[in-house]
Amino acid sequence: MADPADPTFHDPRMRGFRSRASVESVLNLIEERVARLDSESVPLTEASGRVSASEVVSGVDVPGFDRSAMDGYAVRGEETFGADVYSPIPFRIVGRVRPGKSAPLVVGPGEAAEIATGAPLPEGADSVVRVESTSVIGSTVEIIEPTSPGRHVGARGEDIARGAIVIGSGRALRPQDLGVLASIGSASVVVVRRPDVTILVTGDELVRAGLPLLPGRIADANSPMLTALVARDGGLPRVVGPLPDDRAALRDAIEQAARSSDAVLISGGSSTGPEDHAPSLLAELGELLVHGVAIRPASPAGLGWMGRVPVVLLPGNPVSCLCAYDFFAGPVVRRLGGRPPGWPYRPVEVKLGGKLASVVGRVDYARVRLVEGKAEPMAIAGASILSSTTRADGFVVVPADLEGYPAGGSVTVWLYE
Ligand code: AMP
Ligand code: MG
Repeated sequence: MADPADPTFHDPRMRGFRSRASVESVLNLIEERVARLDSESVPLTEASGRVSASEVVSGVDVPGFDRSAMDGYAVRGEETFGADVYSPIPFRIVGRVRPGKSAPLVVGPGEAAEIATGAPLPEGADSVVRVESTSVIGSTVEIIEPTSPGRHVGARGEDIARGAIVIGSGRALRPQDLGVLASIGSASVVVVRRPDVTILVTGDELVRAGLPLLPGRIADANSPMLTALVARDGGLPRVVGPLPDDRAALRDAIEQAARSSDAVLISGGSSTGPEDHAPSLLAELGELLVHGVAIRPASPAGLGWMGRVPVVLLPGNPVSCLCAYDFFAGPVVRRLGGRPPGWPYRPVEVKLGGKLASVVGRVDYARVRLVEGKAEPMAIAGASILSSTTRADGFVVVPADLEGYPAGGSVTVWLYE
């Protein structure tokens, strides 16, 4: 634990950043230190969208019996060879089988059993003649079209063979996956626990959205935004705040959050101003491994740990906050929940409608609009223009080693959609 009395302890308040970590080094740190959480079993009715924690192997054949794929007559196929409209072949009807009923019937030579789609094929029969190719006269059915062994029969294990892997580990379960799990007889599935993410929102000026604003106050925009981002990434968000820029209050909140969460996000107070307590508190109470990142517009971001709990420091400026979430907090939440750490945004390759300037040495998170198939950089300097993100269709990342892209250059746009 860092000790503020230690002469090597660096309290960044009012000194500015000495150096900034590269985006890559921060992502490497997250990859090394953030592991998937433990698992839990949930009923299938609650499993949609959850991440499977292990492979699921079928213990049964599906279907568990040979079944008819048609309404018609179950017969011994080779006895129907040569049947046609001019020379129908008669079979004696020995009974009927319906779906869900076990059939104690045996179909012998010259015999047929009336059968419905999904019903088990009776012993002795190996195929089905479609009802359209038959006509019934009393207890005899005449067949006017041949069938062959196996025809119109769904073989046991044809859908899922016993021993087959039906769900891979780490898969976000889709509705049809739940159907498959049910079909192999599972009522529940083992999934990765959803990360409990506490969002500490700090700033003396903040007022919870919807409450009256006194002069100089602003509405807290980051709480709803971060709540939605965490939920989108499979976490269980819990907002605490807005909290004042008060060291003792923030210390208590960080300690409490670290005890009750899998990750902590702190919005605001992450920079080097006199009221920016989060970095030095994290250094004091746990570990502050990153403070200041070579990225615009989220350079006052930080990363550390309270014991095993990752803590991401997000700048309060809403656009910086979104950028820092996209780059650092999102991968933490997704990794904890066993999801792919990459962006859940769809990339499209397009040409730039105008020049996109950047500075060598830092990554740029540049909002763009798509106009007539081209990416138009949005001419917004400030990190505080939150509406720039709603007007943007997505963003382009300019890597640290580039001075930007020329008009007409090809870029990848990550769509917010
Ligand atoms: P900070 O990171 O605390 O220095 O805040 C930077 C800027 O972002 C200031 O102008 C704050 O008023 C603003 N800000 C901080 N937190 C929020 C928030 N939750 N919602 C909207 N604006 C914020
Ligand atoms: Mg502040």
